[in-house]
Amino acid sequence: MPCQTYEALEQSLKSARSEFAYFTFDENKALRGMSDRQSKQFAKKAQERISELSKHISWHRQTCAECKGPGL
Ligand SMILES: [Zn+2]
Repeated sequence: MPCQTYEALEQSLKSARSEFAYFTFDENKALRGMSDRQSKQFAKKAQERISELSKHISWHRQTCAECKGPGL
């Protein structure tokens, strides 16, 4: 059973992923209303957050007693 910290991390990862998609997909170009260069910068930031969060999540999974669940 994942704990609240884990849920929050997952939530942040999800939003970072959709942010990344938002700044990456050509379909959103008109929506974004910014230059390609700016979009790329934002996409890069989002990607960095994704990899940070992924690391954090896998580390959490290994160390959190609650997420490991009983019996482990
Ligand atoms: Zn946990």
